[in-house]
Amino acid sequence: MAKIPLFFSVRKRWAVGAILAVLAVATTAALVRGEARDIDVQDGARPQTVVEDEWSGSSGQAGLGRQALMRPAERTTASGSEIDSPSDEMERLGRRLTPTATSVPLPTPDGTTRELIVPVLMYHHIGDPGPDADAIRRDLSVSPSNFESQLRYLVERGYESISLEALVMHLQAGQPLPAKPVILTFDDGFKDQYSNAYPLLQKYGFAGTFFVITFFADQNRPEYLSWSEVELLHAGGMEIGSHSYTHPSLSGQTFDYVVWQALGSKEAIEARTNEPVRFFSYPSGQYDELVMQVLRSAGYWAAVTVEPGSLQSSERTFELRRVRVRGSYDLEDFDYWLSHWLSYP
Ligand SMILES: [Zn+2]
Repeated sequence: MAKIPLFFSVRKRWAVGAILAVLAVATTAALVRGEARDIDVQDGARPQTVVEDEWSGSSGQAGLGRQALMRPAERTTASGSEIDSPSDEMERLGRRLTPTATSVPLPTPDGTTRELIVPVLMYHHIGDPGPDADAIRRDLSVSPSNFESQLRYLVERGYESISLEALVMHLQAGQPLPAKPVILTFDDGFKDQYSNAYPLLQKYGFAGTFFVITFFADQNRPEYLSWSEVELLHAGGMEIGSHSYTHPSLSGQTFDYVVWQALGSKEAIEARTNEPVRFFSYPSGQYDELVMQVLRSAGYWAAVTVEPGSLQSSERTFELRRVRVRGSYDLEDFDYWLSHWLSYP
């Protein structure tokens, strides 16, 4: 069992018993089903809006074959992608942005089982949801000012962002990590992740991992990242992962369907970034054994779930746990839940 860092104290222990009970039931249920549902353990202890699904996206386009993805390789080069010189804020904090995008082969796992507590934060929208937003949209939307407060919190406590690649290299081959690593992930490829999150990540010297739904980029949907924005994120040192082709539930699907969603989206991103895509985020957190097998054989190294927690293991690289950051969180909530999932990883 990994050692639990002492510097994380649970501030509100009254919630712990209830949460553990819910977590135990939820985990058992997920294991029985062979899938991880987006069970909202976090809301079990606090009176907040419960949103059951991560995101309900279109799951259409099932009639398209894989050949629909086989476009001629349009390898546009990223332009205007230079990172601004470190801001005053970064200099004050003594931080420097270190792009992490490299292409290295996964070394043969050395056979050592490794476990490590690394919080993988899960974000969706970084933007104000607007007055007409429904409960789901509000829950998925962290305001830029709250996001900045959270980044400042992490900086002030000595966290350093790492890539998922660095985490897997540690778990499988013992590559060293900084003392307090954190991974920031962004699901669904919303455009405000480029316009709002990316500049703040740069300001505070963090890198993030962005999980893109490639069909939405193909369609140039206004609310989603364009391919040129994906290229700019990648050129700026951000890690680009796949969140599937059209964001369907992948649990219980056929082999061909999963290949189409997982490999098609991987190839589409690689055609733009010229770098292998190694990481996958399960749409709505839904997966089963078949999905993990397909991801492995397609060359993925790891995948993130919506299962709450922070204990990562070399035995479960396709079931990495995450800490959801909700739109309703103020900094006290952020501190509370991060501390909680570090203490009960
Ligand atoms: Zn999603």
